Amino acid sequence: MRTGSGNDRYARQVIFPKIGMEGQSRLKAGRVTLVGCGALGTVIANTLARSGVGFLRIIDRDYVEWNNLQRQVLFDESDAREGRPKAVAAAERLRTINSDIEIEPVIADVHVGNIETLAEGASLILDGTDNFETRYLINDVAVKHGISWVYGACVASEGMVMPIVPNRTPCLRCIFDAPPPAGTSPTCDTAGVIAPIVQIVAALQAAEAMKILVGAMDDVRPRLTQISAWDGEFSTFDMAPALDGGGCACCRDRQFVYLDGKATGRTAALCGRNAVQVRPASDTKLDLEALGDRVGSVSNGRVQVNRYLLRFDVDSYGITVFRDGRAIIKGASSPDEGKSVYAKYIGN
Ligand SMILES: [Zn+2]
Repeated sequence: MRTGSGNDRYARQVIFPKIGMEGQSRLKAGRVTLVGCGALGTVIANTLARSGVGFLRIIDRDYVEWNNLQRQVLFDESDAREGRPKAVAAAERLRTINSDIEIEPVIADVHVGNIETLAEGASLILDGTDNFETRYLINDVAVKHGISWVYGACVASEGMVMPIVPNRTPCLRCIFDAPPPAGTSPTCDTAGVIAPIVQIVAALQAAEAMKILVGAMDDVRPRLTQISAWDGEFSTFDMAPALDGGGCACCRDRQFVYLDGKATGRTAALCGRNAVQVRPASDTKLDLEALGDRVGSVSNGRVQVNRYLLRFDVDSYGITVFRDGRAIIKGASSPDEGKSVYAKYIGN
């Protein structure tokens, strides 16, 4: 019998010269905050835990559902049957994979009020979220406290990755000053997502994470990588000019509008109606007809549109969306639930 603590465990990565023994101890000393443990998050956590990253804080607000199993690699049928919280199910699985590292599951929605605490002491933040609101919050906290983070996103068969090292590479707001208007981008719930793009994006995020954790900073390039898994195409864009341009309110002027809560405060429970109102993350004018087409498939065609609003039913929710991007989600019993339904079907 061999025990799990043998030196063999990391042998193949220690002989890789960019890591070596020194890099391996740096990985062991690494403290990672992973925001979101769904598709991208489970693949990232799986890779980093196996690589021997010493501390993983895994934050997720959701529970495992059957439609997660197609791409969320740490979960199995029993997790879906029991509807176990993703953070907990992931942590338990990871402990059977590597008992030498520390894993802290946190069942929570990341928001203005808790993100600085959750990021405290982190050497790195990994983006496993499915919404722009949280990403802009991560970007603010990362730039404010000088913590590197790795952006990742995917939908359908397309994805994007970008490492962000404050003051060395452009931040998210250097590239995209504000989140895309609500209802303008497809989500996994309207456009679907295939597992290969999840694994490619998360693998590239994990590679950036390993470089940052071992201190190979010259290998962390200011670069946005765009991938189409279906077409087998990669495109990389040099983002260095975005930093040199220097017009960023976040990294240059240190205005953390998302963290200050000025750009949030988006939800309100509608008392006595079992409904929650959710406002979009930025001002918008929605194309309700286009949104109606996108949600048509998930609501079995039960979509009504008039000049003021769009109505559709999905699962047990009755969703009403207005042209200004505001939505009332009937059947949502808390602001967090309302926000999560909004992100799923309308966008961010
Ligand atoms: Zn910036």
